[in-house]
Amino acid sequence: MDVPKHNAYVDLHCHSTASDGTLSSTELVRLAKDSGLSALALTDHDTVAGTAEAASAAGSLSLDFLPAIEISCQYPHPGTMHLLGYGIDPNSPVLRDLTQRLIAARDNRNPRIIARLNELGVAITMVEVEREAGGDVVGRPHIAAVLVRKGYVSSIKHAFDKFLGTTGLAYFDKERLTARQALDLVHQSGGLPVLAHPCQLRTTNDAELERVVKDLVDLGLAGIETIHSDHDASMVERYTRLAERYGLLKTGGSDFHGGNKKDIALGIANGRRIPREFFDALVERCGRKG
Ligand code: AMP
Ligand code: ZN
Ligand code: FE
Ligand code: FE
Repeated sequence: MDVPKHNAYVDLHCHSTASDGTLSSTELVRLAKDSGLSALALTDHDTVAGTAEAASAAGSLSLDFLPAIEISCQYPHPGTMHLLGYGIDPNSPVLRDLTQRLIAARDNRNPRIIARLNELGVAITMVEVEREAGGDVVGRPHIAAVLVRKGYVSSIKHAFDKFLGTTGLAYFDKERLTARQALDLVHQSGGLPVLAHPCQLRTTNDAELERVVKDLVDLGLAGIETIHSDHDASMVERYTRLAERYGLLKTGGSDFHGGNKKDIALGIANGRRIPREFFDALVERCGRKG
């Protein structure tokens, strides 16, 4: 019988306090080590501000590390399209311009959400939300956390259902890049673009999903996230088949957010673990680690 190797598993999708997670990047790396993982990729929304600290913590704990980013793209409602960029150079000027632009789009949206909440009789200020966020990337989960703390809603999920989700009373979208722009910018930053959690595209059949993936492949897509907390066994199988048909890398991750998504544990995606070979194949293709 094969005994699983100690270094058999990784997590390639997680968020720190640099975006909307609740653990610092050092705490995340420690948790990865304590959870028996051998490698981690940090995929904060719209920023690489946590990657230097994570790389240094990973170095001291002998955990392999890959800097990454998650970017939301234009996509028709009710679906969402997120792209992961693995192995980007955190010092790339293209990446710096990109993250500044994405953060500006958030800074444009967030005060509108707060103003609408105030109109609805919810006493919440931008200062409280910024304090909750702690960093440059202020997202809806931070607003949700303040709403929970102040007793306006019972949970983060309730905050999204009632106020912040696409059908909520205080929903505003932010300016998004097109998929083409996001793919080009990830390439120009030295990274590999990967389609995150394809189930969130909410395509209604296999043919539609395949068309979306094929269009992205034509624009330079390098991989598909096959394993994710939102994916059941049949989705994992379907996305794996698609990856193999188009010669794409397979990636996987929990999408861990700490206390902002309490039911998700680092390294575990809907009961599944993420094989080390996913990390090794990414590193081999992008030629970067640490
Ligand atoms: P933002 O980047 O500000 O648009 O917020 C996106 C973040 O909100 C992502 O981390 C999502 O996982 C999270 N999110 C979106 N919808 C929900 C929901 N219904 N419940 C909990 N979190 C959500
Ligand atoms: Zn998030
Ligand atoms: Fe996402
Ligand atoms: Fe994510």
